[in-house]
Amino acid sequence: MLVLFDLDGTLLDLSLLAAVLRESIVRMVADEIGVSTDEAEGQLAGTEDELRQQEGKVTFFSTKVHPDEDPLILLNQALQRVAPAIDAVGAYSRIRTSCVSPPFPDALPCLEALKARGHTIGVCTNTVHEKAVRELIDSGLTPHVVFLVAGDDAARPLKGDPPAYRRKLEELVREHGVVLVVGDVVSLDLAPAHEAGCRTCLVVRDYTPDRSRMLPWLDHVVRSLAEVPPLADREGPA
Ligand SMILES: [Mg+2]
Repeated sequence: MLVLFDLDGTLLDLSLLAAVLRESIVRMVADEIGVSTDEAEGQLAGTEDELRQQEGKVTFFSTKVHPDEDPLILLNQALQRVAPAIDAVGAYSRIRTSCVSPPFPDALPCLEALKARGHTIGVCTNTVHEKAVRELIDSGLTPHVVFLVAGDDAARPLKGDPPAYRRKLEELVREHGVVLVVGDVVSLDLAPAHEAGCRTCLVVRDYTPDRSRMLPWLDHVVRSLAEVPPLADREGPA
């Protein structure tokens, strides 16, 4: 069967990117409002804390950050209060493009095991095609990945356009039968996959929130990619 992985935060570890992003944003804020980096960090962290208390979300300034979904949205909201001239999404994209993210230690063994068991492996990411290819080559994952659906294969980031992402997944279900989608972000990776008739697997790392209890439709929740090959066997024949 087809196992379709998200790239950022699922196969690739974004911790380094998160650290670089955090530093750069603090420097930008300091320059923009004319204060020291310590003061800028204090203002951003304070504002984010307030937002977190209001909205109950994880923060960009927690010890290990995950610059995806909630933290980036929250960062944007905090920046709008502290330094509205800064475009957090633009900064994220620029830094994302220049910063290499290594694979998680469990990524390659997982793909090797799936391939050995005869499953087909795909990657579906919002990252632009050229960068996704480079990242797959740099991370040593390429030999195991059969196909790639990347951001610029669609007119806009595929997962930012849920109907287009759903249509792509429905097409894959028609072609492959059972499709297991493995991702770290419920709203981007898994909710549209569930609606498209795919099986779903949420990867919860030590710094990502585990909201699986609120999501009874989720088929699987794993804390390591090592858990994926045996559950792929249970989901469907190779
Ligand atoms: Mg992700």
